[in-house]
Amino acid sequence: MQTPVCPLCISQNNEERFSERGYRLLFCHVCGLFFISPYPTDKKQVHNRVSDYSFDEIEILDPENHYLAEVQYYEKYYPFIAHECEGAGSLLDVGCGTGHLLEQLSAVDDLYLTGIELNADRAEMARKKSGCEIHQVPIEEFKSATKFDVVTMINVLSHIPSFDSLFNSIRSLMSENGRLVLKVGELKKDVRKGDLFDWGIPDHLHFLGLGTINYICSKYGFKINTHDRIPLSQELFSPHTWRSPGRSSFRNAIKRMVVHTPFALAALARYYDITHGTRIYSSFISLSPQS
Ligand SMILES: [Zn+2]
Repeated sequence: MQTPVCPLCISQNNEERFSERGYRLLFCHVCGLFFISPYPTDKKQVHNRVSDYSFDEIEILDPENHYLAEVQYYEKYYPFIAHECEGAGSLLDVGCGTGHLLEQLSAVDDLYLTGIELNADRAEMARKKSGCEIHQVPIEEFKSATKFDVVTMINVLSHIPSFDSLFNSIRSLMSENGRLVLKVGELKKDVRKGDLFDWGIPDHLHFLGLGTINYICSKYGFKINTHDRIPLSQELFSPHTWRSPGRSSFRNAIKRMVVHTPFALAALARYYDITHGTRIYSSFISLSPQS
């Protein structure tokens, strides 16, 4: 068997953490990235899978529920993103889903907005909701005459197979003082499978380690503006997450009950922290090109 190669730093110095759905999750000792093995070699295959989401094991929402989940999500995170957009004239939302972020940002004056979404149903809904042009082309192949002041990738990075073509493309699309706004999972070295109920592997191809963003910055020429690490428990047990509908109506009923029980979510978050500690973060990171 060939030794797996890290898709970010090309090193073969890695070790296994756990496996899910027949894939191993490996930790790279050089750049700190966690990546699945076998890692997809055919990028087209990954893009096609996102386009139609043909496998059923992972909870994939229909566009209507996906939109409702986005509404809940951005109620909490919109202010951070809006702050990053101050003074910007153009924004590209990569993996824009059903378009709620673009829809909200359309209230900002003089901000040109456009999105990329590979999934056809979501892209169609995004067009309707936001009124923006939505491109169904992988970011690695996206070409534009506009140089964007802000590029957002909200919970998108871990789905994109090639770091080199992704970050080279983004750098070429950004204006000189542009910002790349990432919402992304960051894992501590000693993360365990039980820390999450479902890792969404192989839909998620990789997760950042705590040092990986620094590696990315030095490899692709970015500097960090802000880096906020939010312990996962705060996200898992936030009322916004629990109000978001899923596919199962039974689970939705439980969620509604929990949200309406005083202190239930805070107690669950505390229970999670006690039993799991903080080994997973959901982080907001803003990067700018290094001049
Ligand atoms: Zn690596």
